[in-house]
Amino acid sequence: MIVKVGMEALFTSALGLQAPWVVEDVKLDTAKHRIDFEVGCQQARWACPQCGAVDQAVHDRLRRSWRHLDFFQFEAWLHAEVPRIGCSACGKTTQLPVPWAREGSGFTLLFEALALSMCQEGLAVRQAARMLRMRDKQLWRRIDHYVGEARRKQDMSKVSFVGIDETSLRKGQQYVTVVHDLDEKRLLFAVPGKDHKTIEAFAEDLEAHGGERTAIAQACMDMSTAFLKGATLYLPNALVSYDRFHVVALANEAMDEVRSAEWKTEFALVVDELGELSAKERRSILWGMRRNPETWSAVQTHAMHWLQRANLKSARAWRLKMALREVFAKARSHNQAAAAAADLLAWISWARRSRLDPFKRLAATLKTHFDAVVRGMLDNRSNAFVEAMNGLMQQAKRAARGFRTATNFINIAYLRLSKLTHLPPSPFVPAMHR
Ligand SMILES: [Zn+2]
Repeated sequence: MIVKVGMEALFTSALGLQAPWVVEDVKLDTAKHRIDFEVGCQQARWACPQCGAVDQAVHDRLRRSWRHLDFFQFEAWLHAEVPRIGCSACGKTTQLPVPWAREGSGFTLLFEALALSMCQEGLAVRQAARMLRMRDKQLWRRIDHYVGEARRKQDMSKVSFVGIDETSLRKGQQYVTVVHDLDEKRLLFAVPGKDHKTIEAFAEDLEAHGGERTAIAQACMDMSTAFLKGATLYLPNALVSYDRFHVVALANEAMDEVRSAEWKTEFALVVDELGELSAKERRSILWGMRRNPETWSAVQTHAMHWLQRANLKSARAWRLKMALREVFAKARSHNQAAAAAADLLAWISWARRSRLDPFKRLAATLKTHFDAVVRGMLDNRSNAFVEAMNGLMQQAKRAARGFRTATNFINIAYLRLSKLTHLPPSPFVPAMHR
């Protein structure tokens, strides 16, 4: 139905106002790029907002203003003389809540919903604040409020398979522990720190959202002793598994350690073994060793061929790392526990005899946690998800740049990765299907 209406009625409906609130006046200032709406209500008697007593008189009116969504290129403001009710029942004088804004906020609900959806859909908070012409701090406060509200109502009653990981706000400092729901693929919980107490905090938060710590049947994590201790103490029924991403990362670290020690202490031998490689080509080996052969550049391919023919510890370290990757890749394709265990055992025995200390230590670690490592080899769900999550966490960190406190980072991570179902919806819905 399309109806023709007068200007005040048009804006009343465009602003989504309900009776008794109506637009009484509109002022457009083209020089200042501003449109101001005067909103009023004629109703003289109200229920008391404090005690609910009906039919109370207006005591006085206070003038207030709210920033609203832009109308075309004009910055839009709502103004109203908001009644205060003098209640004859409870004796208090209380300002009436207005239906278009939260109490105490200088922005309308629609404006806040838009700001939130801009940050949720990928804009850095600073960038969104700039586009909306509001201060960063005002936007952060709103994110904190709405994420907190939505999280309180979040349901975790069916959670049984979690992934636990750590991330740092800055390289190597200010750690945050994150817990994911690996079935629903969402972030459940994040808290500063990386000791075993973070798992206790998660168990408590889970139970505050309808879940049960005893219902957690599997926990996928990195090999930190703190997480293992936390899972043992606070998730009593969880089978632990170690995810591929973290195990392969350990092999990469062991390899880097061998290489940098050899480059440092036996550089003459390195140069000699690598024959005709230039200094630049030798340096490309650093990256070639870490990257998958499919992604090698021409220079890296050439240099890595020299490394493979060389009688160097670095070459053996690289072969060990590649072999471990292969053990994991095979397990993923056949998904057989017995075969995966046999392959891993063979690798451990090779690494033990390698005469490379970092790999001997890694072999001992994998042996100690053997069952949990094998479980992690077979679980494609967790492996793929943990890797995807790592990338998204980095984006969340970038979104908080300039204001990267643990609280801000955690709020943005919740906003984007928790699949919160109680956030206000974006005010922009398409007028027609595309
Ligand atoms: Zn009252």
